Amino acid sequence: MNSSAPALSAVATRARIAADVCRTRYAAPETLPVLQTIAAHFDTIADACCSTAPFNIDHITQPLTQAHALMTAHRDARLPVKVNSYVFQPFDSQASSVPLPAPLYPASDQLTAQELVLRARLIRLNADTTAAVEDTDRWFRAVLATLAAWSRLAGEVDADNRRPSNRHAVIAKHIACPECSGHDIRFGVRNWATCTCGYGDIWGAFLACFCFSHECPAVAALTI
Ligand SMILES: [Zn+2]
Ligand SMILES: [Zn+2]
Repeated sequence: MNSSAPALSAVATRARIAADVCRTRYAAPETLPVLQTIAAHFDTIADACCSTAPFNIDHITQPLTQAHALMTAHRDARLPVKVNSYVFQPFDSQASSVPLPAPLYPASDQLTAQELVLRARLIRLNADTTAAVEDTDRWFRAVLATLAAWSRLAGEVDADNRRPSNRHAVIAKHIACPECSGHDIRFGVRNWATCTCGYGDIWGAFLACFCFSHECPAVAALTI
């Protein structure tokens, strides 16, 4: 943990920007109070970081936990929980940058291209540590806008991947036989899977994705 004054000041700056973005975000009338409450949690964090009172990490982690719960419960607020990682990052001496969101594995080529553009934008922003310090406002607003776009895209991919016509394309993105590269695999009991080519191995050996095997949609579709 890094509770030095520059780190706290950086957390405060990012929290104030996140609060401002929440307050000015266009949303349905029923979502606006949620955004206001999340903004208030970010303000609490910024105030705690700037206070002359003895610093306690709970003053950051508790409002972040409350904001996290609201973001998860209100997808319509379009605030991915990664926002919290960016606010906390200057305080976290282990984290040189925030890890990228988990891959979406779209079946459609067009959505795949959009994912690549957003991923590249986030990689570029994460690498721009100079802008993060010297032009925090512009930099962090760009990060938040990219995360909001990612969140929207994730919703589109989810809906598109669920179409029955995309079933095989989705499966092919997630699993492949290490022996024949085929996708005609059955996931059976005791974590054992077999391919039509005859190859058998543990479930994990067939995953081409970064999912946990029990959360992988392809494994779920092909479990017998
Ligand atoms: Zn095979
Ligand atoms: Zn998967």
